[in-house]
Amino acid sequence: MSTQQCNIVLLGAPGSGKGTQAPKLMEKFGLYHISTGDMFRKEIASQSPIGLKAKSIIERGELCPDDVTLDMLNSFLSKLGECKGYILDGVPRTLEQAHMMDGINYDKPISISKVIYIKIEEEEIIKRILKRAAELGRTDDTPEVAKNRTAQYFKLTHPLIEYYQKQGKLIEINGMQTIDKVFADICKALDS
Ligand code: AMP
Repeated sequence: MSTQQCNIVLLGAPGSGKGTQAPKLMEKFGLYHISTGDMFRKEIASQSPIGLKAKSIIERGELCPDDVTLDMLNSFLSKLGECKGYILDGVPRTLEQAHMMDGINYDKPISISKVIYIKIEEEEIIKRILKRAAELGRTDDTPEVAKNRTAQYFKLTHPLIEYYQKQGKLIEINGMQTIDKVFADICKALDS
């Protein structure tokens, strides 16, 4: 991978707006939108070996294994060719994945320039997931699974905030605003 690349991680609870902001950022900054959730959904749709493994995990609202996720991501990136960089939406999602992306006990590091943490209030999370369920009909957006995904987020993903804060890469954005205002705040932070 080129050292010139600018790779941005979008971090936040389910429903925080990562998937909404990513395409807008892709268009503005010319970065490639990478969603490991979308990759898993494609694997499931094509009934590939990864998809068969991931289906029940995702339907329970749990996280797929770190090595499976990072290997799938790297295999995808290796076929992409040169680009300015990536918007990483939904990865890393555990400290182990962050370590692997930093090249710790893993031979395919992915450099990260900045981490945009879209912060929303805890009581907003389930509300937003259920609203999305009505709009998109995702099988992992049911009330029970949404509850589990939220619990997994706080247990496994939330610690990444401190991890990237310590690396000086974290930018916190208030996600309790309109889509356009959240986008404007992210752009301002990245431009500066
Ligand atoms: P998302 O579309 O990002 O909400 O992801 C949907 C589901 O895919 C998650 O609830 C996980 O089960 C799985 N998934 C997506 N990204 C990851 C990841 N980085 N690590 C582990 N599991 C993931």
